[in-house]
Amino acid sequence: MKTTAKRSIALLLLVAMVLGGLGVLGYRFAVNGEKWATLRANEHLTENGSFVGAGNVLDRNGEVLAFTENGERNYNNSERIRKSTLHIVGDTEGYISSGVQTAYKSQLSGYSPLTGFYTLERYGKGNDVVLTIDSKVSAVAYDALKGRKGVVAAYNYKTGEILCSVSSPNYDIEDKPSAEDIEKNKDGKYDGLYLNRLIDGLYTPGSTFKVITSISALQNIPDIHSFQYKCTGEEVVDGVKVTCPKKHGEMDFHECFSSSCNCAFAVMSQEIGSLPLEQTARELGFGEVFLFGNKNTAASIIDLAAASGGDLAWASVGQYDTLVNPYHMLTLMGAVANKGDAVLPFAVESVVSPKGRVVEKAEPEVKSYITPVIADEISQMMREAVEDKYGDGNFENLSMCGKTGTAEVEDGKKPHSWFVGFSQNEQCPIAIVVVVENGGWGSSTALPVASKVMKEIYKSVS
Ligand SMILES: [Zn+2]
Repeated sequence: MKTTAKRSIALLLLVAMVLGGLGVLGYRFAVNGEKWATLRANEHLTENGSFVGAGNVLDRNGEVLAFTENGERNYNNSERIRKSTLHIVGDTEGYISSGVQTAYKSQLSGYSPLTGFYTLERYGKGNDVVLTIDSKVSAVAYDALKGRKGVVAAYNYKTGEILCSVSSPNYDIEDKPSAEDIEKNKDGKYDGLYLNRLIDGLYTPGSTFKVITSISALQNIPDIHSFQYKCTGEEVVDGVKVTCPKKHGEMDFHECFSSSCNCAFAVMSQEIGSLPLEQTARELGFGEVFLFGNKNTAASIIDLAAASGGDLAWASVGQYDTLVNPYHMLTLMGAVANKGDAVLPFAVESVVSPKGRVVEKAEPEVKSYITPVIADEISQMMREAVEDKYGDGNFENLSMCGKTGTAEVEDGKKPHSWFVGFSQNEQCPIAIVVVVENGGWGSSTALPVASKVMKEIYKSVS
């Protein structure tokens, strides 16, 4: 009996070891199989950096952005389209890590954890990746940036589909600057060349932050609707002078927002308090990392723990240590536009096999940020800003809501120019974010870019 029991235990241990071993192997295969396979297959998948059997990358209208012919990777005929979609399509070497040619490499090469390279072997070609991007709109956004650094992104806030995401600087993938060119360049024209600024960028928000402060005011100041302020062009808070570019005069809460009065927000911020303002920002997604395709976005940064008095006043108008990620800002615009619920923006619509079968489909994720009542009031305030200050003529037929920002950066450099907003036209439910680095005034630089892109999108849907 004793011996049998010992044997049984030994057998159980052996079974456990085998199962455990298989478990570890299975786990490692599930985690690394894709990486091993794409590495192993590199020899027959890539030749001189080209995907030999990779599928196509297409825009939302079927325009082919990248394809393989006679073993070579080729791109769209239009240089404007190649440059404007560079950071979304990506490269085959993996410098642009968020581009689909890197982030969706296994899908494009036809690899599946179950069948290996079955698709490639059977059809001689991997899967196609269909983007939500409209390449024509992207080209217009590229033109509007006029070579300046920055980002333009627009998305459908009902569905989450990104129509354009242009990051600058960019380059022509058919005529890539050499590593030496990039390294030797001293005028900064290649700064952050491989980064998609929509995902990786972090910027001082300037007055676009007044959207967040206004939400916090609505949440924390019970009598905010009876708020009145007379702007004389400056306000001293706790010994710190806050200024406006002009005397705005007598205003209520909504007018303080549409006039973008720094002095009024400085006073308002003292009523809100630093911790409640930071709390609002965190509830609105500051500190949060979003998943874009297979890559994480940079998280917006806020820390008002040490901010009181004058620092809090400047923080409330977006001029403190706070930094905002453009993808996050776009999401926030989506939330305001969509009654408080943000449909998170995405750029890959589907992955389609060579037989036309959809093997992956985008599943939009929704996050609730604010109440419908607050979303409606902020929408109304942003609508008034366009009607009263920026001019509806810039956004014809769009019932546009918006906020500009002119974010002071380091000494001697022009401010970053911002425009954020969305259309209330039900046929064109689009939100947009524009940042032109060191572009100057929001209203004179970023706003005209937004105007051109929104007009093109309106044309495409009507
Ligand atoms: Zn003012």
